[in-house]
Order: sequence, then C-alpha cells, then structure tokens
Amino acid sequence: MVPYKIYLEESEMPKAWYNLRADMKNKPAPLLNPATLKPMTFEELTPVFCDELVRQELDNDTRFFEIPEEIREFYKMYRPSPLTRAYFLERALDTPAKIYYKFEGNNTSGSHKLNSAVAQAYYAKKQGLKGVTTETGAGQWGTALSMACSFFDLDCKVYMVKVSYEQKPFRREVMRTYGASVTPSPSEETQVGRKILEAHPGTTGSLGCAISEAVEVATSLPGYRYVLGSVLSQVLLHQSVIGLETKAALDKYGIKPDIIIGCAGGGSNLGGLIAPFMGEKLQGKADYRFIAVEPASCPSLTRGRYAYDFCDTGMVCPLAKMYTLGSNFIPSANHAGGLRYHGMSSVLSQLYADGLMEATSVEQTAVFEAARLFARVEGTLPAPESSHAIRAAIDEALKCKETGEEKTIVFGLTGTGYFDMTAYQKFNDGQMTDYIPSDEELEASLATLPKVDL
Ligand SMILES: *Cc1c(COP(=O)(O)O)cnc(C)c1O
Repeated sequence: MVPYKIYLEESEMPKAWYNLRADMKNKPAPLLNPATLKPMTFEELTPVFCDELVRQELDNDTRFFEIPEEIREFYKMYRPSPLTRAYFLERALDTPAKIYYKFEGNNTSGSHKLNSAVAQAYYAKKQGLKGVTTETGAGQWGTALSMACSFFDLDCKVYMVKVSYEQKPFRREVMRTYGASVTPSPSEETQVGRKILEAHPGTTGSLGCAISEAVEVATSLPGYRYVLGSVLSQVLLHQSVIGLETKAALDKYGIKPDIIIGCAGGGSNLGGLIAPFMGEKLQGKADYRFIAVEPASCPSLTRGRYAYDFCDTGMVCPLAKMYTLGSNFIPSANHAGGLRYHGMSSVLSQLYADGLMEATSVEQTAVFEAARLFARVEGTLPAPESSHAIRAAIDEALKCKETGEEKTIVFGLTGTGYFDMTAYQKFNDGQMTDYIPSDEELEASLATLPKVDL
C-alpha cells in the first residue's frame, strides 16, 4: 500500500530548477517594450528586476538552473513538502480514482509563494541591493517575500491591494512582524497611485494597480528592484521545485499520474507543478492530462483573449502575450477566493494555445463546498485558491466513479486557509453568491487591449 504521506529524504530534494521553456517547441512570446513594441532586452529590464532574475526571465534554452546552496538550505526549513494520498477523500467520494495532493501550506507564509520569494530575495542580496518592492493581493506573496527579505536582511516595501489591506489585517501584521512596510494601494505615495485615485475615487484597488505603484517606487529609489510573485517565467522556474519533488516522490512508488490539476491565478504553482511532467509530454516520453482551474468570475484562460496586454493597470510594465481579460478587469466585489489577476503566465498561455493543457472554470460556492468536504475528511483547511483545484479533482474523481476507471489524479494544494476566514464566514453564513461576468462586460474590458500588430 502507498503510504498516506510520501516524503523525500533531504538528499532526494531537487538540486536544480527545471526550465520548461527549454523543451517547448513554440516558445512563449517575448515581453515587449510598450514604447517600441520590440522585445525587452537585458538592459531594459535590469533597472526594474535583479540582473540574475532577468537572465532567467529571458532564457528559453537552458534546461536546468542549479539551485544555489543558500536557497537549498532555506528550502530545508520547510521542504520537502508532503505528497499525500487522499485516502479519506477517496473513501468519502466512493471513487475508484487514486488522488494525491502536494501540500505547499506548511510554512508561516502559508503558500507555495515562498519558493520563489527566497530565490528572488537571494539574488537581490547577491547583487548588493538595499531592498525590493512588490505588490500583494490577498497577502500571501507579501508575507512570503517579507519572510525571505528578513532572512537575507533586505528592506521590503509591499503595496497591498486596498480591499485586502482593510479586510485582511492578519497577513498585513505578519508582514510587519517580519519587518516589511505595507502600504494600501492605490496610495498617494506614487504618481501612478495619485492618477488612479483621481480617475477612480473610492476604488478598492487591484493587483494591476499595486504593481504599477511598486514598479514606480523600485525604479525611482536607488538600490531597489521590483519583484513579482507570479506570472513571470522566472517564477515558474523557481516553482518547478514543486513538480520535481512530486515526480521524485511518485517515481519512488512507480506511480504515473493520469491527470494533474492546479488552480491558476497567474500560473506559477500550476506551471511549477506540471513542469517535469509537461517536459516529458513535450519530449514524447509520456502523456498526461493537465487541467488549469480558474474562478468563473475571473476566467482569463477560458474566456479571455490570447493577445499582448499590459501586466498592470498603470500601463508602465512591459507587454506580455497571454490569455487576458484586459488590464482594467477587476473581479466583481463578491469574489472571495483570490486568483484575481487579469492575465496568465506566457508559458502556460502558449501551452494552452497549443492544446497541451486544458482549462476549466468553477463557481465559488462550489469551490467552498469542495473546501469544506476536504477540510472535514482530510483534516487540512485549504486556502480558497487551492480549493479550486480540489473542486476539479473531486469532479474528475466523480467521473471515475461513473465510468469505473481507476485514474490517478494529482493536484496542487497550494496553501492553508487560516487567514481566509472572512470568506469561509460568508460561506458558512450562506451569504456567498456566484458571479459570472457577461460577455458584454468582458468585451468592454478587452476593448482596452493595446493595439499590437506583429
Ligand atoms: C497566490 C496563490 C495562488 C495563485 O497563484 P499562482 O501564481 O497561479 O500559483 C494559489 N494558491 C495560493 C495559496 C496562493 O497564495
């Protein structure tokens, strides 16, 4: 019998990140300079990002990047993360499917984001920088980054989407405990913040807007760079540690998954989880089904357009080709479960466009029903984001029940739900509602896409 938890020995932990782009025939489209519409160069990107991270961002060819010793040591504080066989969930669903989940919530920041935060902080420190700036939505990324920065003794300035700043004081206090400064966005501190406040007084903010503010501060303060917790190819590279560990653990027991499922906000956990498996698929060595799960209220892959768009509301960042809802898109106010970014990683977008990955969208009450069942039978209280993957995994397992197929399903359980109790409260009070944007709403937002003819 496969044990409930498959752990790796320290010696079995990955020593290099895997760069999926090296095996993609159709490479993700390059970031473009919004002024010239030419691919962003190393020299154009390094005022914004750390040098080494720019190298990783632009590298579509190097298959493996060695994980520096200091980062591997940090990883040992909370990795390897367990891969759990969901025996209890299987029993509750009465399904012949075999379900596994990789749990990334076993660290104080509560999610997989720490995997990339520590890498980005390490390279910033190595470059001799004073500090970094970033944005955060629900607060997981800001929390992860503040932990990583305190470890490497770097200053950390976080612009937090105003609605989360007000509704989620606990994550904010974790960040401050680790020494970060946290500013609600949009703020009066930046030009772009003031501009957005003028155009939209009373706005509760958005990730895109917070990004614009953080970039402005990073590029105007000497010794600072901007770091981003998702979407970018470098972040997917760092997150490949999730997939590499998962594959190593499964290989120990000769288990080959049929379906690999992950929630998709900007695409980093999913891109990391599927990386080595997708690599095998791209090389023709094995076949898997990959499913990206997104909220029906923010459906970039399933209803967005594959086009060049701004990564931020303030339109100061490079253009990325991705499935997007338009950089002005803001999910409706009742949307509770994270995954609210308007676009999707260029790597995942290209894989989806090439038919190598599927995508599905789920409504939030169904997501919380899945979360509740999972918490009750498996014990772990899942993050709302992660629960999108749980929903899809349950749905696939229920299909197996109908057909009698014994499929092996692996999903990413990206984080804990401890700091998301306001959303759970809404659900428990029966006050959670679903919202699916109309085609007209999406069209209006997509109308703001930049005109790029290539
Ligand atoms: C940020 C976050 C996500 C979504 O981000 P991706 O980049 O799409 O992985 C999912 N789950 C948790 C717990 C998160 O904190």
